[in-house]
Amino acid sequence: MTTDPSLVVSEVFGPTFQGEGPTLGRRAAFVRLGRCNLDCHFCDSAFTWDWDRYDPAVELSERPVDDVVAEVEAMGVDRVVVTGGEPLLQQRRLQPFLDAAVERRWAVEIETNGTIAPTRATIAAVERFNVSPKTSNSGVPQDKAIVPAALAMLVASGKAAFKFVATEVSDLDEIGAIVDDHDLRPVYVMPEGTDAATVTERGRALADAVSARGWHLTTRLHVLLWGDERGR
Ligand code: SF4
Repeated sequence: MTTDPSLVVSEVFGPTFQGEGPTLGRRAAFVRLGRCNLDCHFCDSAFTWDWDRYDPAVELSERPVDDVVAEVEAMGVDRVVVTGGEPLLQQRRLQPFLDAAVERRWAVEIETNGTIAPTRATIAAVERFNVSPKTSNSGVPQDKAIVPAALAMLVASGKAAFKFVATEVSDLDEIGAIVDDHDLRPVYVMPEGTDAATVTERGRALADAVSARGWHLTTRLHVLLWGDERGR
């Protein structure tokens, strides 16, 4: 276990509600870590990694784990969502935070793009992984976005749900191929969009086809409530 006491943080916010996936609507704190190993063109958190558009000196800070734990504790939550960017880039640094969360009986969700295998210690500490593999609509080459060994470890954890961003029904064939190739279950499809009208319209367009494949549909609650406002 590491003794490194800090994390590269983009923002800590809440209490708010998990906006996507299997725990949608659950009250939670969010810890958004800095940096990502992908560069999806639809990314709604590019301020964590896109240094052509944002200044890392403004967007990121190296914060002691104890400070982050104290900020979450002050929110009075029983759930914390660790997101990014790609939080597993800091998996070694994250362990002291996960240890503190386990001590406090917080349910921990890690949101990951599925390209980095979780360690056994990470798996033991979390309630769930919300894994969002990126299809070609992200603009990321598939040999970079899909890492079979990492997906296999996430499947084997027994704690993963797989959430795919879609803009239209024709995206579902590609999602289906990835799901079948890597035996991913359960599958959630989420409409891409950063305003309520787009998310609702695309969700309606996708719903019947998603159900026909035996998959789940998730909306983006925070977008319906607050658009693309940061820190909500
Ligand atoms: S993996 Fe997630 S955080 Fe990284 S660029 Fe893609 S959408 Fe953004």
